[in-house]
Amino acid sequence: MEQMSARGCVLCQQGAKMVLFITGVCRRACWYCPLSRERKGQDRIFANEKEISSPEEAVVVAQLMSALGTGITGGEPLDRIERVVAFARVLKEAFGTGHHIHLYTSRAPGTDDLRNLAGLVDEIRMHPPAECWDHIRETEYRQAVCRARDMGFSVGFEVPALPKIGLLEAVLPDLDFLTINELEWGETNADEMRRRGFAPEDSIHNAVAGSRDWAAEISRHDKVRFCSSRFKDSVQLRERLLRIARNTARPFDEVTGDGTVVYGVVENEGGIPSAIREYGEDMFESRDGTIETAWWILVEERARIGGKKSVIERYPDRGMVVEVSPVP
Ligand code: SF4
Repeated sequence: MEQMSARGCVLCQQGAKMVLFITGVCRRACWYCPLSRERKGQDRIFANEKEISSPEEAVVVAQLMSALGTGITGGEPLDRIERVVAFARVLKEAFGTGHHIHLYTSRAPGTDDLRNLAGLVDEIRMHPPAECWDHIRETEYRQAVCRARDMGFSVGFEVPALPKIGLLEAVLPDLDFLTINELEWGETNADEMRRRGFAPEDSIHNAVAGSRDWAAEISRHDKVRFCSSRFKDSVQLRERLLRIARNTARPFDEVTGDGTVVYGVVENEGGIPSAIREYGEDMFESRDGTIETAWWILVEERARIGGKKSVIERYPDRGMVVEVSPVP
């Protein structure tokens, strides 16, 4: 049973949340940390998949996907709290206070940190390390939860589905929500996973076998949401791509159900062929020495169009190319 407790989760499922990776720096060394080599320990900022350096660039990425909110993650965002504050402030100014911002942290934030975040961050998602789950009610995390709730934040935990996840049932009465992420196999944690006897569920997905079962019992609780890695890869990503595609597709781009765009490209040194021009000015674009047009124009008129022709499928906003098919 999958529940939808946190507002941040609801927006995330709609693909309406921008993921703002504020830093890869983190002083913990969780053996299961899912960060990629590109990000782990690196003080770099990404808005979705795009590397950025200023809050204004984050606003542009959020506009592109008509974001209704932002999830600030890391690394450890509180190690760069001044950056979190600067980005959250600019996002709230640009999109209004209704732009929902949640913050991931592996710390138990103190009063000073919470004061800095008040009015800018709506929801706090703490990740207490697995070593303290068996006495979670006696930890600083529980105190931080009470403190943050008193100050008006929505507060929950966001943790991976490890074998002892059921221990967190003891703290559920204090939380607004508990988000459990399926344990994910990755390039930086594979050795540790193997050492502990874990294995991937199959050769296609990166979920760890057994993770869903460990979380099954606690996930029955109505404050708990289990977020499967398959769900994140498919539904969430597709919804986000569709939002970007709707905002950026040209009149001749075809937007697929997966949120990718399909168009035709001609490498032709002789200018715009009349067979394309006849369809109207908005049905083609000259770009980087090539001509881009609808894929079906290229196919239907191929006998009248010289040069090398292909149909391209890619992520929207000039994103990753998924497939290139030559048109004979
Ligand atoms: S706290 Fe989060 S970012 Fe830091 S090592 Fe653990 S999982 Fe990775």
